[in-house]
Amino acid sequence: MIDLKDFEYDELIQYLQSIGEKKFRAEQIFSWLHKGAESYDEMTNISKATREKLERETYISALKIREKYVSSIDGTVKYLFELPDGNCIESVVMRYHHGLTICISSQVGCKMGCRFCASTIGGLYRNLTAGEILNQVIFAQKDIGERISNIVMMGIGEPLDNYDNVIKFLHNVNNEKGLNIGLRHISLSTCGVVPGIYRLADEMLPITLTISLHAPNDAVRNTIMPVNHKYNIEELLKACRTYVDKTKRRISFEYSLIHGVNDSMENAFELAELIRDLHGHVNLIPVNKVEERNFEKGSSADIRAFRDKLTSLGINATVRRELGADISASCGQLRKKVIQC
Ligand code: SAH
Repeated sequence: MIDLKDFEYDELIQYLQSIGEKKFRAEQIFSWLHKGAESYDEMTNISKATREKLERETYISALKIREKYVSSIDGTVKYLFELPDGNCIESVVMRYHHGLTICISSQVGCKMGCRFCASTIGGLYRNLTAGEILNQVIFAQKDIGERISNIVMMGIGEPLDNYDNVIKFLHNVNNEKGLNIGLRHISLSTCGVVPGIYRLADEMLPITLTISLHAPNDAVRNTIMPVNHKYNIEELLKACRTYVDKTKRRISFEYSLIHGVNDSMENAFELAELIRDLHGHVNLIPVNKVEERNFEKGSSADIRAFRDKLTSLGINATVRRELGADISASCGQLRKKVIQC
């Protein structure tokens, strides 16, 4: 059976024509799918005969809300979504002054093995399909009843390890006949899958690329991010420069501050020198405690000192505000608790 949400718009047109339907049907069906229709019966402007035909070969994938938590501090909503095969993924909706932002997953689990990350502890189960990535936005928006305007691909999984489905998703979510979310309102975060960065540069999509750097040199990065053994910092930053040159978009860096590992003043100095020529913004994330890991965050004074050092060296840096602190909103933590599902 075909999930209609796995088609890009042009592919949907082709498919519908191949079963004897007119081109304009694609627009109607695409729109229904992206509004969160869960059955063909809801598509009231599609004839019964067409609906029956579609039902024979295709299905409309959906996500079941397995658990939902709403933060009483800041309104952050965290979903544990159940996929049709019983696997679970997490998505988080955050309220910012510029609108609702959803943090979505790209894989069930992750194989990248970052030492501080909860999502990778059980390894990679499977890639999400393009439809499953999109469904997180569709069903969160449907549940909340407000438009989601921004997306960050910073949930479970490594987006560039599921490249084709992620690109298909980006095309679909940006399509004006569907959710119509601007690519400039979408960030994609990678731990540094270098070939994926080069491929992405060629797509010329005006998304924001975010690099999970987390260390100012290979010695430190090797101890916390296994991907660095394959693509070291020099190769990673070379790919970043190519990306910036080609797309004319700035890159952001994520830097999780782990006390005693990467948060000394010397580290701040090294980091500033390393990324200076890329003119990127640095997002500092005080490391979130993960039960299985013994990494700790520094005091607020340590964190402020690191930020101030970067700023004084001419690097634009901010400390990420913690949202949803009362609902363990950092990805990977909720799924891990119910991994048997
Ligand atoms: N695989 C992608 C997408 C994950 S994004 C990537 O690595 O970029 C989630 C961000 O949170 C990444 O920067 C990740 O390194 C970071 N992160 C993961 N676990 C964390 C933790 N316990 N504390 C702080 N940041 C963490």
